Amino acid sequence: MNLGNWQLDSVHGGAFSIDGGVAFGVVPKSLWGALVPTDENNRVRLGANCMLARDGRHTVLIDCGFGDKYSRLDRGFWGLEEGNPAVASLAALGVSPEDVDTVVLSHLHWDHAGGATSRTADRILVPTFPKARYVVGRLEWEDALSGVPELETAYPLENIRPLAEAGVVDLIDDGAEIVPGLTARLTGGHTRGHLALSFQSQGQTAFFIGDVCATTLHLHRMWNLSYDTYPLVTRRVKLELLGEAADGGWWVVWPHDWKTPVGRMQRHAKRGFEVIDRRERL
Ligand SMILES: [Zn+2]
Repeated sequence: MNLGNWQLDSVHGGAFSIDGGVAFGVVPKSLWGALVPTDENNRVRLGANCMLARDGRHTVLIDCGFGDKYSRLDRGFWGLEEGNPAVASLAALGVSPEDVDTVVLSHLHWDHAGGATSRTADRILVPTFPKARYVVGRLEWEDALSGVPELETAYPLENIRPLAEAGVVDLIDDGAEIVPGLTARLTGGHTRGHLALSFQSQGQTAFFIGDVCATTLHLHRMWNLSYDTYPLVTRRVKLELLGEAADGGWWVVWPHDWKTPVGRMQRHAKRGFEVIDRRERL
């Protein structure tokens, strides 16, 4: 998709499976089960959707998918796609890891930041994108490295420490302009430091909404991931963001939708919002 000066492309960060109850939080299966199939373990299949943005000066990757560092046991548990899906998807766009100068991580959960680091042949952990700055929300970075026991499992350090050791991390706050035309929006909710990303050019906007609205099935206030650290914030902020997207005619990118990762919104009298212009990719 061309958005003014930006060339935007969907990047497939891999497919994986999570328990349906976890995917839809407080919503009973009698409601979500009618809309999405489950496997024999009650899991639903999700995409780890990333985005590439190029403007001739910068090559920016939003999120990295889960990467390729997982054990066979983990791969089975999560139904992970083999290989490094984000790197393979970039290659199909003619982009090598060395070409990426900016990686932005919406947050540091494994399905978004796992692909940020890789193992070399001698099993040393290194940044996957060797020439890139890695941009992370300041609060997210603090929480991920806080050592607080209740957050420990959310932030595997193999995805984070190698970035710190390489000195490639830029910490940002709400409203930071990462490169011209790309602005971060601190949402909180899913995690305290979770960012949404807004691309703007020539009066048009594309919006990577992040895990405050994981799929097009999560438009309703009460349909949220069980992983949310601050669920009440998600319930509030998500509707504010969807409202802005609908009123502004923005393209929205949903990070985990399997069928419709991209679309535009309109307000709906009964359901709050509905998706129009559904697309499978940017
Ligand atoms: Zn996620």
